[in-house]
Amino acid sequence: MKKITDIYDVDNNKLIHNFQDACSDKEFKEYVDKLNIKEDILMKYTSSLEDSFKEYKNCKNCPGLDKCPNEVKGYLYTPIYENSSINFSYDICPILGKKEKDNKYKENINLLYDMPKELKEASFKDIYKDDKARVPIIKYFKEFIDHYNDEEKPRGLYLSGSFGSGKTYLIACLFNEMAKKGVRGILVYYPDLLRNLKASFGIDFEEKYEEVRKAPLLLLDDIGAENNSSWARDEILGPILQYRMENNLPTFFTSNFTLDELEKALANTSSGVEKVKARRIIERVKQLTITLDLISKSRRI
Ligand code: ADP
Ligand code: MG
Repeated sequence: MKKITDIYDVDNNKLIHNFQDACSDKEFKEYVDKLNIKEDILMKYTSSLEDSFKEYKNCKNCPGLDKCPNEVKGYLYTPIYENSSINFSYDICPILGKKEKDNKYKENINLLYDMPKELKEASFKDIYKDDKARVPIIKYFKEFIDHYNDEEKPRGLYLSGSFGSGKTYLIACLFNEMAKKGVRGILVYYPDLLRNLKASFGIDFEEKYEEVRKAPLLLLDDIGAENNSSWARDEILGPILQYRMENNLPTFFTSNFTLDELEKALANTSSGVEKVKARRIIERVKQLTITLDLISKSRRI
């Protein structure tokens, strides 16, 4: 019968043999030497070290993140020496690390329902500079960013103007910029918000409503495009605006309507013409915002 020590020797010889075999590759030898770990420990991990070496070489000849040949794309299988043994972990590669860092702000942007996800990519550097109509808006954005941390936060914007002129895109640029500074924002197509709140009765209405009401930055996109009703105006919009006024929460609107036109639209419901109630909403919008317009050719393709 074989003694335990014999089995140990056989296994140990195999370890030595495998390790030496791997070290016949000069580059591999250099790689493990650099780890500064004793050979009797290294040789227990030959196979894993070969795997990590392969990935190390891949990274040295990086073909770009898209073509990353490593086992886990964008990560590097890496040895770590701890308490006389070697553990292997997946380290994020610098390119993916930068990409993740660059995209981190997107966690602060919430596009509700069907808002186009490209809005998360909207960036100041892409704003059309050929169009003078945008200058006052960009100036306003700069002021907004500079004064956001003042005790009284700057007002939001009521941005009216023609269809496709880039209103939503512009506000998304500001929200993304603020998201990079850690400020969360919600962008929601206002008619969709109403539809979704209505459909959420008895399910999660409260949750949905609170999320919007309390967002640090809120865009109600395309106000005036909804099917107006006294419920939407008096039970949803009014209280949201009231809360945001009282809590100093910047609120933004885009609309194809001027404020005067919006007032008329809000007055007309199936219950008749309710000028006073519409007036009350407009007063709140005015307190919450400054008004600018963007009349420009349509950028829609
Ligand atoms: P509006 O809200 O005024 O109707 P949008 O913001 O939806 O207009 O813009 C219309 C189209 O033009 C969208 O597809 C948007 O992505 C595009 N767009 C607007 N401004 C820019 C810009 N500066 N750079 C790239 N695309 C833009
Ligand atoms: Mg829009």
